[in-house]
Amino acid sequence: MTQLLIIGGSDAGISAALRAKEIAPSIDVTVVVADRFPNFSICGLPFYLSGEVFDWHDLAHRTVADIEREGIRLLLDHKVQAIDPDDKIIEAVGPKREVQYLSYDKLVIGTGAVSARPHIAGLDSPGVFPMRWMKDAFAVQRILKRRPKPKSAVVVGGGYIGMEMAESLSRRGLEIIVVEYFDTVLSTVDRTFGQIVKETLERHGVQVATGVAVDAIKPQGKWLAVSGSGGFDVWADLVIFATGVRPEATLAQAAGIDVGKWGAIRVNHEMETNIPGIYAAGDCAETWHRLLERYVYLPLGTTAHKQGRIAGENAVGGQRRYAGTLGTQVLKIFDLVVARTGLRDSEASEAGFDPSTIELETWDHKAYYPGAQWVVLRVTGDRGTGRLLGAQIIGRRGAEVSKRIDVFAAALFHRMAVDALNDLDLSYTPPLSSPWDPVQMAAQAWVQSQG
Ligand SMILES: Cc1cc2nc3c(=O)[nH]c(=O)nc-3n(C[C@H](O)[C@H](O)[C@H](O)COP(=O)(O)OP(=O)(O)OC[C@H]3O[C@@H](n4cnc5c(N)ncnc54)[C@H](O)[C@@H]3O)c2cc1C
Repeated sequence: MTQLLIIGGSDAGISAALRAKEIAPSIDVTVVVADRFPNFSICGLPFYLSGEVFDWHDLAHRTVADIEREGIRLLLDHKVQAIDPDDKIIEAVGPKREVQYLSYDKLVIGTGAVSARPHIAGLDSPGVFPMRWMKDAFAVQRILKRRPKPKSAVVVGGGYIGMEMAESLSRRGLEIIVVEYFDTVLSTVDRTFGQIVKETLERHGVQVATGVAVDAIKPQGKWLAVSGSGGFDVWADLVIFATGVRPEATLAQAAGIDVGKWGAIRVNHEMETNIPGIYAAGDCAETWHRLLERYVYLPLGTTAHKQGRIAGENAVGGQRRYAGTLGTQVLKIFDLVVARTGLRDSEASEAGFDPSTIELETWDHKAYYPGAQWVVLRVTGDRGTGRLLGAQIIGRRGAEVSKRIDVFAAALFHRMAVDALNDLDLSYTPPLSSPWDPVQMAAQAWVQSQG
């Protein structure tokens, strides 16, 4: 019987296993997972810590029993420490240091990413945590449950995980300071949006220090002294660092699998590596960017699911190609939602387009119907061709920001012109939209701006 072995049991690994079993039920599928939490939604960790998700078990996309019911064998608490592509064998170490050798016909690597470790002295001090795995969340939860209760936290990093953690811990009653190296938080969206995000955090009592490089964390009694550039000096009960991730590709690299400039595994459109029969997917791998038409490193759960599914399908004889990412993302911060897809103006310029970006503020639905909310859209298109290049939206929760960014994402996927958005038959009822949806109003504003 053909043996499909998968390393990693998160979004990419489990997607690969499920798809392989769907297509070829008779195949033998084993997933080796370094921890005891296969198929857990690590995207949900901030919501578990905030208390909005009460029981961590609920974070499982599927339980172990659900996965095993599909005929997939799980080898939990086993860390793969070597791949031998010549003999098609992997070496895994179990919880009691026992070593197991498993052979495979096809291999999928879904080892994901690990939290990047910034150059900060004292990063290993007690009370300082990354936020990536269930164990990180459990460690923070233990501190949150201590008596006397912790009062304050510093969140290093103003990216999306930093934002979610700031909200999460603030909901638990802690005083929060977010420290960001750049001069705006959420630098993945344009500055005007970053400013709205900052104001939202501050309105909810979160302090934001931008333009500060944290350089040291020192335990002092039961406190942590956090210091940085410009005389930054604060005390806190705990520190979360959320300064990005790096691909976990060491295992692959040691086996002779090519990695690219970000340290992520190189794959082709079929998610196969340079070694035939070995596939890679998710945060450990590079991603084809549909607009840039080149590989990038853009680790997201949405991408990991899709790539994993394709790797699983192709590992059992399929020929599916990964269509590419657009970098579509959405984030909720308190009552605010911010989203983006495609390229921003500066990114489009760098890529050789001739971009023009407009900003439009409007109502999310007919203003005469109660509860209308403002929503701001930024649309980027190419001056020469009129092609849509990207969009960003910010608005209150309930303003259908994520639905609207997805309309732009679908249009981008199909290489539509900005003006062509006006031909789309979008839904309308006064409590939810307008006869011209804000997406189309923004498209019209862009077309008009071109004269
Ligand atoms: C707090 C947080 C919030 C997020 N929010 C979002 C969001 O809202 N939207 C979004 O799209 N994405 C989000 N992400 C990103 C998303 O979670 C990741 O892109 C996704 O988990 C990647 O899945 P993956 O399977 O590639 O890798 P990972 O989730 O990193 O999993 C890697 C797997 O490999 C295993 N592994 C690693 N090395 C070995 C080894 N040597 N042997 C055996 N097993 C090994 C690990 O145990 C794990 O099972 C968030 C991430 C975090 C941390």
